Amino acid sequence: MHNHGRTEEEIFSNLSLKRREDTGYGSILSSMCTVPHPVAVKAHNLFMETNLGDPGLFKGTADIEQALISRLGTLFHEPEACGYATSGGTESNIQALRMAKVCKKRQRPNVVLPESVHFSFRKACDMLCLDMRTVPLDERYRMDAGLAKEAIDENTCCIVGVAGTTEYGMIDPIKELGQIAMDHDLFFHVDAAFGGMVIPFLARHEPFDFLVPGVSSLAVDPHKMGMSTIPAGCLLVREKEMLCALSIDTPYLSVKQEFTLGGTRPGGPVAGALAVLDYLGRDGMEAIVQGCMNNTRRLIDGMETFGFSRAVTPDVNVATFNGPKKVPAPWRVSCTRKGHLRIVCMPHVHRDIIEKFIRDIGEHHA
Ligand SMILES: *Cc1c(COP(=O)(O)O)cnc(C)c1O
Repeated sequence: MHNHGRTEEEIFSNLSLKRREDTGYGSILSSMCTVPHPVAVKAHNLFMETNLGDPGLFKGTADIEQALISRLGTLFHEPEACGYATSGGTESNIQALRMAKVCKKRQRPNVVLPESVHFSFRKACDMLCLDMRTVPLDERYRMDAGLAKEAIDENTCCIVGVAGTTEYGMIDPIKELGQIAMDHDLFFHVDAAFGGMVIPFLARHEPFDFLVPGVSSLAVDPHKMGMSTIPAGCLLVREKEMLCALSIDTPYLSVKQEFTLGGTRPGGPVAGALAVLDYLGRDGMEAIVQGCMNNTRRLIDGMETFGFSRAVTPDVNVATFNGPKKVPAPWRVSCTRKGHLRIVCMPHVHRDIIEKFIRDIGEHHA
């Protein structure tokens, strides 16, 4: 720390310099985050100093959090769903497994999950001392429900399905998994961190949410396709008791108990998430999601004309390809664990960006 403070001018010229080293979203094709909606930014700023960790002091902000949970619960076919705003999919998944461990007591608990799960489950299982039982995928990169059933034993407390996988954009067979969960008395968590803000707005889709009997909890990230500011995740549960199972006493706060993982929690991104949903409405979200899906299809067509075939036809706006190994600057793409080129067609990836990328690939590889 400096002995004496510096001028604002000096500080901000340094900050701006550093900020310019960041990659602009205009060339980012690899991220599940996007430019926040202007309405989210405005709402975020209004709630900048709010702390959801002390809801008795920030009653209005706490109401907004509950309104968000209620909106999402209704979207996911359980208007009575309970939940809270997390820092993102990672925290939601950790908390889901905590609930599973407490609600379904086993001697040496294990969790059955697909090979395609997000790496946050590694952290969760490590922290909670849960044995991770990974189930192979079928030929379309979805969890094989038959093999999932075989992996279950008397120590299994939880099964996880993903609705919109991070790497291939696939939806696991949620209905079959729900049946398996009920047959074996398991906690069933659906990780819809990405897909939760996509699938309800697709023209056609299989049920993936609380409409499916057996689904216990669901993770969804407004800071991804919900276009809110970072960090905004949500964890929803079918029954309040599941969340309450995590409650601990809080001696010095305005409320006596809390079940969240974080303590001090930002209200800004939560207000942002609700503002976007209300501003766009169902038809606004449908327009954005269907635009992203059209762009995904256009990208796949374009890449295939140059001989780079799709790895799979995705359920959501994540496209994966056999090659090329490298793409020209300034494009930023990613690579899956199996070695496929991966591109996420987020709302900031407009049609003209897709066309420019396809042209660049053509010039470099044709
Ligand atoms: C992004 C993602 C996560 C992790 O979310 P964070 O917000 O980065 O913590 C978890 N699961 C899935 C399926 C995801 O796509």
